[in-house]
Order: sequence, then C-alpha cells, then structure tokens
Amino acid sequence: MVTLDALVEYVDGLLDVSRFQDYAPNGLQVEGRRRVRRLVAGVSVCQALLEAARERQADMVLVHHGFFWKNESPRVVGIKRRRLALLLGEEISLLAYHLPLDAHPALGNNVRLAQRLGIEVLGELDVPQAQGLVWHGRLATSQTPGDFAAHVGRCLGRPPLHLPGEGSEIRDIAWCSGAAQGYFEAVAARGVDAYLTGEVSEPVAHIARESGVHFFGAGHHATERYGVQALAAHLSEKFSLDWEYVEIENPV
Ligand SMILES: [Zn+2]
Repeated sequence: MVTLDALVEYVDGLLDVSRFQDYAPNGLQVEGRRRVRRLVAGVSVCQALLEAARERQADMVLVHHGFFWKNESPRVVGIKRRRLALLLGEEISLLAYHLPLDAHPALGNNVRLAQRLGIEVLGELDVPQAQGLVWHGRLATSQTPGDFAAHVGRCLGRPPLHLPGEGSEIRDIAWCSGAAQGYFEAVAARGVDAYLTGEVSEPVAHIARESGVHFFGAGHHATERYGVQALAAHLSEKFSLDWEYVEIENPV
C-alpha cells in the first residue's frame, strides 16, 4: 500500500515527465481515494477498462492513453461524462503516461517492444521532432521480409501490414511504438532495412516503394501493450500493490 501522492510523485520522477512536450497531461488525471492497494493497467482509457477496474475493486487505473488530448473538446458530455462519472463515483484514480512511457529505457514501450520482437537495441535514431522516440537496432540474424512479418504476427498476436521496400533481407531496423508513421520518410533516409510502427497512412506505401525501406504497421494497440505492464509490475514490487493488466481488444 502507498499513498496516492507518494505514488504519483515517484512515477513522475521515474519517467522524467517534465522532459517531454506532449499531447496530453502526464501523471494524475483524475484523483481518487488517498491510498492505493490495487491497480488495473490497460493501454487506453475506455468504459470497458473502467468497468473492469470497478469489478476488481481497483484504487487506480494506470494507462498509456488517458484523457484531455489537444484538440479534444473540453466538454464533459456523452462518452467522457460516463467515464468520468464512473471514476469519480467509485473514487478510482486515473494515472496516464504517454510519451514518457514510450521512451523509458527499461520500462518503456519501445524497449519492451524490442525485447518482445528479439531486436537488439542500439540506441535512438536522430529524427527531427521525434523527441528521441525512434530507436534503431538489429535482429540476431537476417530474415526475409515475409519471415519477419510472420515473426511479428506471432509475437504480437496480430499480423502486421507489410508495405514492401526493396531488400530481400532485413537486419537493421528502426521502430517507434504507436502512431509514428509520420517519421517514415526521415527514418528511410537513415539507411535502415525496415521501419516498424503501430499505425499506417496512405502515403506510406509510396515512401516504402520509393525509398526501398520495408514498412510494417504492427498495430497501435499491439505495439503499446508492454510498457504499461512493465510499469505496473515495477510499481507492484516497489509498493507491494496488487495489479492486473486488462486487455481490451483493439484491432487498430
Ligand atoms: Zn499511443
């Protein structure tokens, strides 16, 4: 058990939240009861996750995607009213970490995704505007693009969208969890064999063809399941908390 204040202060420091320019507030988004014994972790806040937390009598919900995004309407109506009503009514806290949880060198989405896929991490790739969130590394052995796609599908439980480049072998790879397809052109100019991220958009197919770099869209949700679980497990150990990851299926 730990007090809410001590827990939030610890995680804010651990993830170095002030270092990031983000699209949503990091840290405590909704304040619940003063003590935390049990937490439920999930990728994104949604009604199903909140109901699972209520069922499990959680004191806190820990997510990667929380509330209050830039450009989101600030009105508390409809879906947002129902979600907030559940949290406030049950006195469950919502703790959300976005880019700081992607980036953390031991607990973050990028490093945990690399471990899951068997990629040796070599470091950050210098990509403008990416805030150090695009990483590069190496597979233990070269794989054909088809074999690599099948491997990613097995590791993440979801086949990726492969947009072919040119090379017949993949070894040097760059990646960024989530919706980081916008960095593809800059990444391709760095001479890797492939780039893997969660989401895809229309121009990406042409960039793959014209740059020769293979692109894998492995799912926004599927590439961001692992950081929040690593963080929850770490907090459980540090503060003797009960925790459970609740997978709310999302094909995107
Ligand atoms: Zn994301």
